[in-house]
Amino acid sequence: MFRGTKIVATLGPASNDLSTLERMISAGVNVVRLNFSHGTADDHIARAALARQAAENVGRTVGILADLQGPKIRVGKFADGAIQLAKGDRFILDAQCELGNQERVGLDYKNLPRDVQTGAVLLLDDGRIVLDVERVDGDEIHTVVRIGGKLSNNKGINQQGGGLSAPALTVKDKQDLKTAVALAADYIAVSFPKSGDDMREARNLVAEANGHALLVAKIERTEAITNLTDILLASDGIMVARGDLAVEVGDAAVPALQKRMIREARLHNKFAITATQMMESMITAPIPTRAEVSDVANAVLDGTDAVMLSAESAAGQYPVETVEAMARVCAEAEKSYVNSLDEELLNREQSQIDQSIAMAALFTAQHIGVKAIAALTQSGSTTQWMSRVDSGVPIYAVTPEESTRRKVSIFRDVFPLKTDAIPTNREAALAQAERALLEHGAVQRGDLLLMTIGEPLGKPGGTNTMLIVRVGEYSR
Ligand code: PGA
Ligand code: MN
Repeated sequence: MFRGTKIVATLGPASNDLSTLERMISAGVNVVRLNFSHGTADDHIARAALARQAAENVGRTVGILADLQGPKIRVGKFADGAIQLAKGDRFILDAQCELGNQERVGLDYKNLPRDVQTGAVLLLDDGRIVLDVERVDGDEIHTVVRIGGKLSNNKGINQQGGGLSAPALTVKDKQDLKTAVALAADYIAVSFPKSGDDMREARNLVAEANGHALLVAKIERTEAITNLTDILLASDGIMVARGDLAVEVGDAAVPALQKRMIREARLHNKFAITATQMMESMITAPIPTRAEVSDVANAVLDGTDAVMLSAESAAGQYPVETVEAMARVCAEAEKSYVNSLDEELLNREQSQIDQSIAMAALFTAQHIGVKAIAALTQSGSTTQWMSRVDSGVPIYAVTPEESTRRKVSIFRDVFPLKTDAIPTNREAALAQAERALLEHGAVQRGDLLLMTIGEPLGKPGGTNTMLIVRVGEYSR
């Protein structure tokens, strides 16, 4: 069953043992997500090691995504753990309050009263509770409950329409970023960035820590939509973070934004992950709803690189079944994906040699009908270019670099393939790549195969050559 769309699964108590992880990876997980909103540095280091062990045990490559908590603005704790709010109740968010009660609750972000004005609408617990701001009095935000419900410790707060000033990287995030680099995370996600500057700051911190992770901007603020291009240019990929985004911009606006974000990410040669509630009902049920099947399939048709599981795989009852269902839905949806390769290629500006080779390779691969594309690569960047336009042809990143094989795990239609060090003799290098694809079952003798290489071999530098071979010509 061919599947080019990748699956990201969040780890948590439901997926914390080797055997479950092995089964999840066998079922199709390509990237595991460490959610730094929960757990200690040691928890994440242990989880990363366990996931890599599981991947090795089942002979797969798995990338690791470290997702920083960001300035999620939250209410404090309640004396009784939770309260019940009813429509019309008065309720105070009070930066000074230590322990909450029926009348008021504390804030972890003490500046919130400065960011909020009379008439603002605050959404708590992912929008389940809605408060109308009546007035702000010093450190106190006085509100009237519009939609009530149970409010428990540490639930999130968003403002409708955005406008909260908390910086994207908190003190905790900067510490967690070092942990992420230390455990060799392949991707680091920044939560609630407002602009490209937030991403550039994160990139500097990764560089200072000698990390090489790709950077993912989670698009979940109103301002991030406004500054989408700036953020894309400063990032390697984005996450369509529908949970918080829906609260800020209104749920009905999200489907169209998802399409636009994925399209623009591809145009800027960045990858996209579609996240949150994709298989929500499978937290407690062994099969998805029809709506969830459609949602995952539509993300595939929108052109997403990856679909993500959150609580389904972190805390659900059916983590393995959820991955199986997701994989099945992706594979089926891809069959009906209509690509418009020629048109897309025409609309792209090419300024770099490796990018031009990548685009020429796609055009040729589709028109001549090759079985596969093999990119002999050190950094994997050629495969990122190639995977931005769908050609219907699988792309193999043939590389001796383990970090590159992990990194390409998230790119749609790109598959990591391990080889020994690439020989400096051209024919030997091509023969070795052919053999790797043959052994993997990606091609058979006699198939057409398109290969890209950077010459002279052995000298680090960009891809500058493409050739089409009949498999067996070199690896006789
Ligand atoms: P979160 O991000 O799960 O870390 O909140 C994803 C989202 O907001 O959709
Ligand atoms: Mn979020």
